[in-house]
Amino acid sequence: MTKLMIFTDLDGTLMEHESYSIEPAMGALQELATRHLTPIFNTSKTRQEISAIQQGLKLDAPFICENGAALYNFRNHHNGITEKIFGQAISGWLARVHEIRDRQHFRFEGFSDWSAAEVSQLTGLNEGSAELAKQREFSEPILWRDTTAALNQFESALGELDLQLMEGGRFISIQGNYDKRTAMDWLRESSDEELITVALGDSPNDSSMLEAADIAVVIKSGKSEQIELQNPKHIIRTHRPGPAGWQDAIMEILEMLDSDQLSNESISNKR
Ligand SMILES: [Mg+2]
Repeated sequence: MTKLMIFTDLDGTLMEHESYSIEPAMGALQELATRHLTPIFNTSKTRQEISAIQQGLKLDAPFICENGAALYNFRNHHNGITEKIFGQAISGWLARVHEIRDRQHFRFEGFSDWSAAEVSQLTGLNEGSAELAKQREFSEPILWRDTTAALNQFESALGELDLQLMEGGRFISIQGNYDKRTAMDWLRESSDEELITVALGDSPNDSSMLEAADIAVVIKSGKSEQIELQNPKHIIRTHRPGPAGWQDAIMEILEMLDSDQLSNESISNKR
């Protein structure tokens, strides 16, 4: 029996971009649960935010936070690893980024500049969730308020600190040289089962994860047309945005699984 390993973005993908509702995808989530499949969240959200969402949904699975910075809640009984870190701690570089901002007069603001109330206003999260979103370990989401030329200069300056910019649905993230694929590949390689990987995402920061999957689902969004993929064996572009599109795609994939369309060599991940 072919086994699926499902990686999913949250904002704009499993959760509605504005309301953060998961409701339209609950049917597909329940169908996955009956098959003992738990999606692995791979999101720009923090460890604390994801833990709260998992608890709300009564899900218990590994998850990847802050655009691929770390994998938590992972149980590898062979060597006792429960987490794996790919990012550089924000405490080691944020002050240097702010020095660059001051010195070169770049105009941008980020989560570390804002109160929870301000984050709440900018994101639509309630203040409790905004508080969790501010507990960043590896990345700083910013809003750029300067020119594109200045953004390019800033990006080069970040390169000298081994940092990069990653565009998400709402913000640009300052982070180390990892992406959503890094942790996904590590997790897949740590399993000795034969797996078909599925990834679902809606924004350019999902591209690496989608490109690495056997089945890529591009959830319709304001930025989904920017996503171009070469590698996946099967690509689904949803007609509906957010969790409604998520529901449609998962049900389509499960139908393919049930009708044996996923077990042939053309989709198998034996490469
Ligand atoms: Mg997203």
